[in-house]
Amino acid sequence: MSSTQSLSYIIVGAGVFGTSTAIHLKSQYPNADVTLIDRHEPDAPTRPAASWDWNKVVRADYRDITYCRITPVLLVALEAQDEWRSNPLWSRFYHETGIYWISRTGFAQAVLDNFKTLGRDAELHALPVQEARKLYSNIFDSADYEGVDTVLINKTSGWAAAKDALKAGINKAIDIGVKYIAAEIDCLQFDNSGYCTGVRTDDGKIINSNRTVLCTGAFTPVLLDKAAKSVSCDALSPQKRMIAAGVTTGIVTLDEGTANTFKDMPVCIQENPTQRGASNGTLPPTIGGNQIKFWGQTIFQFSQGTPSFSQPPPGKEYNQWEVPEALKADVAVASEATFGKRDWTIHTHRICWDCVTPTEDFIISQHPASKGLFIATCGSFHGWKFLPIIGEYVVRMLDGTLESDLEKRWAWDRPLPDQPGKEWPRHDLRELLDSVQA
Ligand SMILES: Cc1cc2nc3c(=O)[nH]c(=O)nc-3n(C[C@H](O)[C@H](O)[C@H](O)COP(=O)(O)OP(=O)(O)OC[C@H]3O[C@@H](n4cnc5c(N)ncnc54)[C@H](O)[C@@H]3O)c2cc1C
Repeated sequence: MSSTQSLSYIIVGAGVFGTSTAIHLKSQYPNADVTLIDRHEPDAPTRPAASWDWNKVVRADYRDITYCRITPVLLVALEAQDEWRSNPLWSRFYHETGIYWISRTGFAQAVLDNFKTLGRDAELHALPVQEARKLYSNIFDSADYEGVDTVLINKTSGWAAAKDALKAGINKAIDIGVKYIAAEIDCLQFDNSGYCTGVRTDDGKIINSNRTVLCTGAFTPVLLDKAAKSVSCDALSPQKRMIAAGVTTGIVTLDEGTANTFKDMPVCIQENPTQRGASNGTLPPTIGGNQIKFWGQTIFQFSQGTPSFSQPPPGKEYNQWEVPEALKADVAVASEATFGKRDWTIHTHRICWDCVTPTEDFIISQHPASKGLFIATCGSFHGWKFLPIIGEYVVRMLDGTLESDLEKRWAWDRPLPDQPGKEWPRHDLRELLDSVQA
């Protein structure tokens, strides 16, 4: 019997990383004592978690073969895809509408090549713009195609109802015996040898465990920095490994006629010209609500004076509903770049905060500065789709059985690139705030 069986675990953060870890840990080790702690109840009407959202893209359209290997949609052989499609826990939230990916950098061909290399069959094409724009009742006819080489059409990609799937996942974890505590974690606890012994809540309660797993998304740098200061151990701090970064979303409620034209709409992602930002995109109408969601192309940090240390704003729910006009305009750019000028109103703007690494790889790793402390987060704007399976990889990390290529890739200590990837923030929220908020 593995020792994992009898250990106690605290998982801080009930986003996709924490929830999936709780389910896989308790399923594999029913006798383990597993506690999932989040500052919000699972059915809170809104949460600041990046994983809480109306919908998220589920795709296997990656340039990078490593992620293709564990992305649910691409490889039927992988349990992850089976889970989204066939496990009743997840499949009711999943909609395989296809994806329309406007590519400026040979991305479409790279994805085709990946599928070929991996021997995967899927209905996927790299189409010239003139052919692609005629698809889907011409809804993308007025998109911005300047500098575009081809459009990737992958009929086996789609989206999932994010907050509903997340809530179902947390309830599943509770059903199988995970304890759920709604509390704000103020600080990590350490013994004299530097071993992480658990957490302290903001009302002073200490909760002990053999192993503490931080799945705290954008708040992770704050907790680690605080821990480093509390025990005077610089090696605990995130340094340049991760950063809290935000992207803005907004919603359009379609009128009945437009909803009818958009009813078979796929996910649309647009790779931007470099000067405009990383990507923008839109998701198909929500079920029953006829609402489409856009995300803007501007990625920003909130550095508060220290460029490499960004954290979400300290207000209620990271001030996620207080969106400055400049960022509302950023969402409008996404709408126009996808559908041309439209006579519709974008409403319900939100800033979504995630934790990003310079290579956009997750961190799923023991923290080398403290036995008992583990990190499993840093979704880097693409982590949501891994909800059904990522916890299994976290359990392998905890057990010391993670495949060596993934172990290296997700390690706390891994080489940092000279230049961070395109999802690294290039703006600061302070520059974008309305004068009244600044
Ligand atoms: C605008 C936007 C669009 C995205 N779109 C997609 C997409 O379409 N597809 C995709 O695959 N990925 C997408 N992502 C990325 C994805 O949402 C994230 O990578 C993923 O959800 C991160 O999950 P997490 O569990 O690490 O963090 P989170 O979901 O942020 O969860 C962390 C949890 O920890 C809690 N917490 C933090 N600190 C504390 C504390 N001190 N005490 C108690 N609780 C605490 C938080 O409240 C939160 O509930 C998108 C991200 C953004 C921002």
